[in-house]
Amino acid sequence: MEGCMFCKILKREIPATIVYEDEISLAFRDISPKAPTHILVIPKKHIRTVVEVKEEDNSLLGHLIYVANGIAKKEGISEKGFRLVINCGLESGQSVWHIHIHLLGGRKMTWPPG
Ligand code: 5GP
Ligand code: ZN
Repeated sequence: MEGCMFCKILKREIPATIVYEDEISLAFRDISPKAPTHILVIPKKHIRTVVEVKEEDNSLLGHLIYVANGIAKKEGISEKGFRLVINCGLESGQSVWHIHIHLLGGRKMTWPPG
């Protein structure tokens, strides 16, 4: 999608530290990490936000969680625990309009989130 930062990362038009890629997903380190491990897992399909997810995207979204699980293992944060976050819409703080799962770990998390 024209003008989308994450589509640009997908097309290698802007650099990112990519940690995983397959035919339908990409994962890369967040440019402004909020935890020792902070990785974004995105679909290659441009979906703006959770509100726009269709039934046909079910397996794609499930795959993203599976990918995050594998990365958490590789990052060594599976045992202690980690957090997956999807911000959806303005009040959640979503700032990039290409759906993404935040994989956060490597420190104790607090609840509720801010
Ligand atoms: P959101 O606020 O939409 O849930 O999360 C967007 C995330 O993308 C933020 O954590 C932000 O730091 C990250 N981000 C924004 N632009 C870039 C970029 O160009 N490269 C990388 N690696 N991360 C980005
Ligand atoms: Zn996009």
